Amino acid sequence: MKIEQKQNIFNLGIFVTWKCTGSCDNCLSLCGTYQAPSKEDMSLDQIQKLIDQSVELNYQWKMWALGGGEPSCHPQIKTIIEMLAKYKNSHNPLLNLVLSSNGYGDKAKEIISYAQKNGFNIANSQKDYNNLKICKI
Ligand code: SF4
Repeated sequence: MKIEQKQNIFNLGIFVTWKCTGSCDNCLSLCGTYQAPSKEDMSLDQIQKLIDQSVELNYQWKMWALGGGEPSCHPQIKTIIEMLAKYKNSHNPLLNLVLSSNGYGDKAKEIISYAQKNGFNIANSQKDYNNLKICKI
C-alpha cells in the first residue's frame, strides 16, 4: 500500500535556543544530558532576516512555532516575540504564532503570559520536577 505524504512548506519551527531547563533523556531536540546539549541561541539578526525575506517574497506562512530547547531560556525572547507579533500584524494577519514551552518554572510562566499578550497560542508540555528528566510522551 502506498502512503502519500504531503509536504507542508507553510509551517515553520523556529528553534531559538538549544538551552533548556530540562534534560530529558528522550528529548527530540537532543537537549538531554547524554545527547547533544548546546548553549547556542539564534541571533536577532537571524530572526530579522527571516522576517525580511518573508516580506520580500510575500510568503504566506500559516504557522510559526517558537521552540527549542526551552524558548524562555533565550536572553532576548521578549524581543523575538515582539518582532514576530509585529510581522504578523503588519504583513501576515492570518499567521498562527505558537510558543512551545515546557512550562517549568517562573521564567517559563512569565514568557508564556507575555507571548499570550502578544497574540501567541501556547503549546505547553507542562513539565514539572518529576517528569523533566524523562519526558512523558
Ligand atoms: S523539556 Fe523539552 S526541550 Fe527540554 S530537554 Fe525536555 S523534551 Fe527537550
